[in-house]
This record gives sequence, structure tokens and C-alpha cells, in this order.
Amino acid sequence: MSDAIMPPSHPFDDDKLREECGIFGVVGVKDASTFVALGLHALQHRGQEAGGIVSHDPEHGFNSARRFGYVRDTFTSEKIMETLPGPLAIGHVRYSTAGSKGQTAIRDVQPFFGEFSMGGAAIAHNGNITNADALRRELIERGSIFQSSSDSECIIHLMARSLQRNIPERMEDALRRVEGAFSVVAMTRTKLIGVRDPLGVRPLVLGKVGDDGWVLSSETCALDIIGADFVREIEPGEMIVATAGNEIESHFPFRRRKPRFCIFEHVYFSRPDSILGGRSVYETREAIGRELAKEAPVEADLVCPVPDSGTPAAIGFSLQSGIPYAMGIIRNQYMGRTFIEPTEQIRNMGVRLKLNVNRALIRGKRVILVDDSVVRGTTSRKIKEMILDAGAAEVHFRIASPPTAWPCFYGVDTPQREKLLAATMSEDEMRDHLAVDSLRFISLDGLYRAVGEAQGRNADQPQYCDACFSGEYPVKPADMIEKGFVLKTAAE
Ligand code: SF4
Repeated sequence: MSDAIMPPSHPFDDDKLREECGIFGVVGVKDASTFVALGLHALQHRGQEAGGIVSHDPEHGFNSARRFGYVRDTFTSEKIMETLPGPLAIGHVRYSTAGSKGQTAIRDVQPFFGEFSMGGAAIAHNGNITNADALRRELIERGSIFQSSSDSECIIHLMARSLQRNIPERMEDALRRVEGAFSVVAMTRTKLIGVRDPLGVRPLVLGKVGDDGWVLSSETCALDIIGADFVREIEPGEMIVATAGNEIESHFPFRRRKPRFCIFEHVYFSRPDSILGGRSVYETREAIGRELAKEAPVEADLVCPVPDSGTPAAIGFSLQSGIPYAMGIIRNQYMGRTFIEPTEQIRNMGVRLKLNVNRALIRGKRVILVDDSVVRGTTSRKIKEMILDAGAAEVHFRIASPPTAWPCFYGVDTPQREKLLAATMSEDEMRDHLAVDSLRFISLDGLYRAVGEAQGRNADQPQYCDACFSGEYPVKPADMIEKGFVLKTAAE
């Protein structure tokens, strides 16, 4: 396959919201790029389309490699890894951004590199810049020449135009112009830099590795794989600068604001073995299942997860309700990229290639199916058909997130609003559309309680970003409004 264009890597998994990026960086270890490759491998769930690594070595300067495909297939080759020497490296895994799905070129794969008068810098970004179109237009008018269609490249051009004397200060300058959600890892010749946007929408954590090394990662699960210790989360609006063997420098370059972390990280995006906000993601998902069982009980014989992401919530539902938990649906773990270019015939098999019903268990039973979300509803419908074909007496869906009725503009790939089932149908209409015996979603308040907010959602000042459920966007999606997106009205 050409190195320039590659289709999305999960042709049968288009009914999920998808995190678009994972970022990782290390300073102060021998062969930092190997650590970065391992970290990116642990973050592969955040983006499977492509990955890139930039390293720096005093003798060889900056080097980079950007490839399509899984980290395990690309950054394990000795030939590639020996081109990335040095004690400092950053990396990125990505799923394509909203505007470039299926048309990604290698030039859009991060990290991006810029050469400035005071030396080079590389940068990788997780999130989405909501005023990128306006910034790009302005920069092009002022003479910038863009190499990619990625909004993250704006940061490099803004840095090039800054009059500050060093790279961290130029980055502060640049990021003050940027709106939206951004967790950034960046590097100079000696420094590893991490930044979170003022609302802290996307995650970023700091770890310590060996005697002198520092690590930045989207999630704690990627610290574990390299034997690093978790130190703390980068705070919303914080910039940290790490050098080998020294203490961390911390700055707060933005106006302080009340944080609005993405609540969907707890529900689905993050790995269950990660820690978010001091809480195990697995335990939070189990708590979501318990809340759901309290809010939407139903008489049934079995609680079954839609694998794998529905599993902890199904366990919580079962523990709370006393209804036995069972693996009624088995996932084929080896789908991988086997059918990267499926034929029409294989495509029609759809979800059956990935999931199969445990018939002996299901026959004659009233089954509760627990899933993390309903996006378009296409997969839910197929799963329901499979369960009924296997002889289930009743099918009840319980969903571990509120109805997803609004698109995300902060670095998560979502269909247009009209393609979201919950944008056009009420809960009862969705139940009829899916033709199930019952369908219930956790309430927004119930979700807040499950993530540790005992009083539920503060309607005046929500503690999290929940825009895809509530339609209340904490950062105005300026580019999208310009393209015709209509914000929620008071009547909705
Ligand atoms: S809109 Fe939804 S998915 Fe996007 S950042 Fe907010 S909570 Fe997360």
C-alpha cells in the first residue's frame, strides 16, 4: 500500500466515538525513542491510523520517522529505531481528524518540526483547535507556508512569528492565540515540554523514569509499560518544562479558569487500567454500571457486556442488581488489520466478524446488554438481532452514558449531528427503532455521581465537559459556527 494514503483501520467499527490522538514524550534516558515507541503502543487505543516519533541526539541533531499503521508494525523495526537516537524523544499516534478522514497524507502525521533562530523544536498535540481555520487564514495572509492540513501546524507558525527569546516562551505566546482543547508534548534540543489547555479538556500526566528521566503521557497506562512512576497530572492551564536530572519547572501562562475535563474519557476513551483524577477508570466504569442499575432496573436472567468497553459497567450493573453477569457475546481478539480492505461480501458480515453470541448461554434468557454508548445505533441494532437469533427471550439495552446528541469539537471524531441517533429521536423512539424490549441511558446526573461528584452535575458551572450529551460547549466552536453549525437554543 502506498505510504501516502491509507483507509481507516477499523472498517467495521464506525459506530463509536473515536479519540483522535495519544501523545508521549521522554527525556533523560538512553534510547528515548524506544521508550516512546512502547508508550505509543500502550496508547494505541487513542489512534490507530498512523504514528510518528521525533528524537534528538547531540551528535545527530533532530531525526523523525512518521508511518501509517500500528506502532507494533512500524516502530519495532531496528532499521527505523536506529535512525532515532538520543536521550530525548516525543511521539504521537493518531486517528484522522474530522476534515481528512480516509484521505490522510503522511505530511499530516505528527510530531511537527520547526527550525527557529534559537534552535529546532518538535510538537505533538492531542485535541482540536476550534479557531484553526481563522488562524490559518491569518497566517497564510501574513506569509506562512503550510506543509500539512493539520490544525496543529498553526502552533509552529505562531511560534515562528513570536518575538520571545526562547522556545518555551514562544510556545506560550502561540498557545495564547489558540482556542479549543489541546494537550501538547514538545521538545527542544534539551527540554521536554508539556502543556494542557486552560480547561484541561484532554488528559496529560507526568511520570518519572530511572534516576534522571521524565515522561509525559496521555494516560498512566503508558507509564506502566516503561516502568515509570506516576508523579501527577499536568494541571489545566499549566506548562511544564523538564530537563534530564533537574526539577520540573511549572508555569501558568493562561488566565485561570474552572477546569472542564472530558467526562467521556471516564466512560470510554481511556484504558480501564489508567488512573484519571486520582480514580481508577475501571472502578469509575463499575460505578457507572451500579448507578445505571439503580436508575433503570429491569427483571432479567443475565447481564452481558457488549465487549470490551461495556465490561466494567456490566459488572457494576450485575453487582448492584444481583442479576448474574455472563459473557453472552464473545469478541474475536484477532480482527486487527486482517480485513483492512474488505470486499463487499466481507463488509456485509459486519459486526459478526468481530462479535459472536454465546448461544448455549443466551437461549431462552431475558438478557440485559450493557454498552458504553449509542452513536449511530447501527451496531446496537445488529447486536440485538444476533442475540434474538440465538434464542433470547427478551433484550434490554442499558447504556453507560447519556444519549450522545451533539458532536464533539475537541479532538474526538463524531458523526455530523444529524447522524447521531439521539439527535433526531427521543429515548422511546430509539427503543422502537432498535426494536428492543427496553432501552435506558444513565442520566447526566447519574454519570456525574459515578465519576465522584456526589451532588451530581452543577447546572450553573458544570464540573466537566459534557457537550456531546448536553449541547453546552465550554469553548465556542468558532470554525464550525462559521461553517453553519447551530448551537443549542434555550428551547432545546
Ligand atoms: S464533547 Fe464529549 S467527547 Fe468531546 S470533550 Fe466534551 S465530553 Fe469529551
